[in-house]
Amino acid sequence: MSTFQAPKGTYDLTPPRSATFLAVREAISAPLRDSGYGYIETPGFENVELFARGVGESTDIVTKEMYTLTTKGGDQLALRPEGTASVLRAALEANLHKAGNLPVKLWYSGSYYRYERPQAGRYRHFSQVGAEAIGTEDPALDAELIILADQAYRSLGLRQFRILLNSLGDKECRPVYREALQTFLRDLDLDEETRRRIEINPLRVLDDKRADVQKQLTGAPKLRDYLCDACKAYHEEVRALLAAAGVAFEDDEKLVRGLDYYTRTTFEFVHDGLGSQSAVGGGGRYDGLSEMIGGPELPSVGWALGVDRTVLALEAEGVELDLPATTSVYAVPLGEEARRVLFGVVTELRRTGIAADFAFGGRGLKGAMKSANRSGARYTLVAGERDLAEGVVQLKDMESGEQTAVPLAEAAAELAKRLG
Ligand code: AMP
Repeated sequence: MSTFQAPKGTYDLTPPRSATFLAVREAISAPLRDSGYGYIETPGFENVELFARGVGESTDIVTKEMYTLTTKGGDQLALRPEGTASVLRAALEANLHKAGNLPVKLWYSGSYYRYERPQAGRYRHFSQVGAEAIGTEDPALDAELIILADQAYRSLGLRQFRILLNSLGDKECRPVYREALQTFLRDLDLDEETRRRIEINPLRVLDDKRADVQKQLTGAPKLRDYLCDACKAYHEEVRALLAAAGVAFEDDEKLVRGLDYYTRTTFEFVHDGLGSQSAVGGGGRYDGLSEMIGGPELPSVGWALGVDRTVLALEAEGVELDLPATTSVYAVPLGEEARRVLFGVVTELRRTGIAADFAFGGRGLKGAMKSANRSGARYTLVAGERDLAEGVVQLKDMESGEQTAVPLAEAAAELAKRLG
């Protein structure tokens, strides 16, 4: 029988590379945890209707990329293609917005699924860390999220990323612009699908990557010229707060992003070392989403950063994360009795909070020492029959190579002392 392989467009995270993924998730979430964001976890699937309404019927995500299924009970479900709709659904369901403490600030981390054409940096299963701040309209909140993402990327050592910023207007000014844009677009030479898009979500036509489309778009009405005074003032304040925080950004009036729910502040993080899949993260304000999924008016803002692409960005920049060894002590028993005794020492070490591992399977000294080296442990404990007869174990400092005999009863305490 041939062996199984991971499904197309997916890959497994295995050691040692998986450690980098954990570190990236940790680094992205750390600034959020330090800024009042609480952890939320939602199911990997939802009723398909939530995404149809919450992400947008006209988006590629909903029309082409969702993994949908009908359960034996007849429910229509979809594997989650993104986090915002689910998190908002969960916050509403738990009445978090009624506790009186707005904004409700939440962060999450998990797997997302999109039936996309796989290529470098684009997978059918990928992972994001995200943040949502629900129920408050305040330019400082938009700025906070962008600043925290910037801080996260910088803490990882990334430098070649850029922040693109735009405002998409609100329910006052966006419809006026939308109509002006539709009038302009209807006169262009475009294919059927794009023509349909003009009627459903004309802003997304601006995002079309094809050169012949882009060429026709010169002279298209600009959203900037249609922003109402309130939106303009709001956007200026976000920009001023970012500038004051020393966070560099680029105004990008073409930035619309592939989801329907954004209003006002919209942003994307791009990395210049990634080729065509250059977006490492993105987000923005979604003031109308709560009402779209049946909730009250709750102006909100959020982002999601892609973990997979952040790891690729680190590799592209040649950044090696300083990952501490996971094991501090490695025990190498020589013989049956030593196995029992050292296994006891390892158990004792672990119970006192010292990370320890053991040479299982009764291998010889040479092979076991190789494993000890590979583990990255600072110390090894070696014991054979003669050591045990003398009531000692050999404690070897793997950095200096120095080896000392330590009374067996004191081994754990001695290691605790040396490891501080
Ligand atoms: P989006 O929800 O499309 O704004 O995506 C937010 C971030 O998730 C992107 O910037 C990517 O880093 C990541 N992402 C989205 N789709 C994929 C995918 N198919 N494969 C890998 N990462 C993705």
